[in-house]
Amino acid sequence: MTVISLVPIPFRISALTQERNSLYEYPVERLAGIVKDVGFRCTACAKCCTRVFNGHVFLLDRDVTSVKKIDPQAIEPAPDPEFCDQNGTFYVSGYALRAKSDESGSCWFLENGRCRIYDDRFFICRIYPYMLHREPDETGKVDWRQVSGIDQHGEFNQEIPEEECGVIARETKEFENAFLTQEIAFLECIQDYFSRNGLRHVQKVYDDHMRAFKKGESIRVMVFYDGRFEEHHIRMD
Ligand code: SF4
Repeated sequence: MTVISLVPIPFRISALTQERNSLYEYPVERLAGIVKDVGFRCTACAKCCTRVFNGHVFLLDRDVTSVKKIDPQAIEPAPDPEFCDQNGTFYVSGYALRAKSDESGSCWFLENGRCRIYDDRFFICRIYPYMLHREPDETGKVDWRQVSGIDQHGEFNQEIPEEECGVIARETKEFENAFLTQEIAFLECIQDYFSRNGLRHVQKVYDDHMRAFKKGESIRVMVFYDGRFEEHHIRMD
């Protein structure tokens, strides 16, 4: 059963705003130093472009605008919608890249182990495996995480020029800022939309409809994009 935070929306907005403030304060030089120390180099193994390795690839609005021009079929509502109203309509904060139905769940754009839109790949694809957000470790202690999948892909301890480390660090901060800004905008939008339309999140309706979805029934999902919601009706592949 999917567990949705029952924290009221204003508190969630406030928490994300604080998170964004902490991000601003994180020195870019410190992140550049970590990039240098880690010394990651991509070996084009393409693992990170599969669902087996990486779950789903969430897109920022600017990427959705691009992908709609490249191939509108390549996106789908991101999984695990945040809300479901009393009428059974789900709401999610954005789109994810669609995966193929092969064994590893390859990205829609992965062909023969190569990205077929490499020069136009999306913001998250450009900064990966770097990140800059806080999450709990296995002991529950919350701390910053800066690199994903250490020793699981690519090669490490390589020499990365200072200038490249600085660019990676700035772009990673920029991505995380854009991500948090999009999440905050989604929560503000849903707060307003629910209030104007007499809607509210109902966990039981969420769970019932999600169970039905997993059994093959279609669900209605409103996807946040460019400050508004786009309607989709989806069913399990
Ligand atoms: S768009 Fe390209 S780089 Fe990004 S996940 Fe898909 S195949 Fe990989």
